[in-house]
Amino acid sequence: MNYSRTGKCPFDAMNEECGVFGVYSPTKKDLGSMVFYGLYALQHRGQESAGIAVSSGDGIIYHKGMGLVPYAFSNFSLNNFPKSNVSIGHVRYSTTGSSNILNGQPLVFTGKRGKIALAHNGNIVNSDQLREELIKDGIIFQTNIDTEVIAALINKYSDKDLIEGVKMAAEKLIGAFTLLIMTKDVLIAVRDSYGIRPLCLGKLDDNIIVSSETCALDSVRAEFVRDMKPGEILVSDKNGTVSFYMEKKRESLCIFEHVYFARPDSIIDGCSVYDARQKSGRLLAKKYPVEADIVSGVPDSAVVAARSYAEESGIPYVEALTKNRYVGRTFIQPDQKSREKYVDVKMNALKFNVEGKRLVLLDDSIVRGTTSKKIVTMLKKAGAKEVHLRICSPIIKHPCYFGIDMQTHDELIGNNRTEKEIAEELGADSVRYMKIEDLKEACSSSDLGFCMACFDGKYPMPVDGKDKDKLRLK
Ligand code: SF4
Repeated sequence: MNYSRTGKCPFDAMNEECGVFGVYSPTKKDLGSMVFYGLYALQHRGQESAGIAVSSGDGIIYHKGMGLVPYAFSNFSLNNFPKSNVSIGHVRYSTTGSSNILNGQPLVFTGKRGKIALAHNGNIVNSDQLREELIKDGIIFQTNIDTEVIAALINKYSDKDLIEGVKMAAEKLIGAFTLLIMTKDVLIAVRDSYGIRPLCLGKLDDNIIVSSETCALDSVRAEFVRDMKPGEILVSDKNGTVSFYMEKKRESLCIFEHVYFARPDSIIDGCSVYDARQKSGRLLAKKYPVEADIVSGVPDSAVVAARSYAEESGIPYVEALTKNRYVGRTFIQPDQKSREKYVDVKMNALKFNVEGKRLVLLDDSIVRGTTSKKIVTMLKKAGAKEVHLRICSPIIKHPCYFGIDMQTHDELIGNNRTEKEIAEELGADSVRYMKIEDLKEACSSSDLGFCMACFDGKYPMPVDGKDKDKLRLK
């Protein structure tokens, strides 16, 4: 989950839930600091809490805190972490479990294989069912996050060997997950068989690094090696680095990584996020031209597309909205109502630029429509003569069950509405969305196929139940 991931207004945003970063080093080093800077670069993927675990020779030392990475570590000196062989870190936005430190990650537990730390990005669709089965087996739970279910499963199957336990647990999980698991001397990274969330591999001297996004490799000056494959389980320890593979499933990288979640300087599965956004803007200009005086983008995630829309259409790019960059995630309340209240604090119209102008405004997506409505109202109040919305994704008609905070059909403005009806609802002069084929074209350099279930309802895996909305996340 994720708002100002790329700095966008968070109030009606879909939110993603996490970023992970881990390092294995054959010689003991100050890995805690490296993971800290890696998490800093992944801050856009989660701003509720952050945590780092490092091996301490005979165990694991960890620290977790609420808020942005620097706040989470404001009362903790990184010097408290010993030089170590393994470290993992996590930034969190909660789609399951409430926002408190108990639910922060990495989750550190003691099991059959000693102390283990676990960090997870994604959402497990069958976690309730697995939790019930584990409770019947006598397992007790301390939190309501699906990550604890994963931890219990890993422990359950680790009688002989941790790697076997991770493999068996991963095969039981239905949903989206990238996992980083560490003991005092091993780092294990897992990408689910569909590849829904990104995970890449890097190298810095003799350190092996795994990260949700390549931008975090750049931040620690590591070299990108490759993306992890869907279904890959990578193990790094004193014997070297090896990979095992789970059964291959339909490739389903979440297309919203390119549209919205990921940082524009990241490259995911061979496709540059920046390039995909540029192409989207150009395609929107070609397909949905409109007579206008200025083009602008909702900061920050739609700005790249808006600039290329302007180039393609020949209409000048002008800033229509300014964002208060000091309103961080921590300022934002976790419920929709409280979020909406703060739109005016987070964003303001540039009256001087928009007054009397016919404006084309690009945005990456519209989920519930509440923010878009407020922005259109704000721009018109500032004197914009017309506001034409051009959206860099198709209409969201279906919920996401894979960790993105849009959980029921009813909350989606695009469910059962045409573009014209949506424009009326938002008070815009027109609204045009990208078509699925165009979005695929914009992301065509990707090595992986995409999940687009929130547009077309074709989920990459069964999401059981007569009423799918009952699968809503808690
Ligand atoms: S349903 Fe939509 S938001 Fe969810 S994983 Fe698929 S593409 Fe991403």
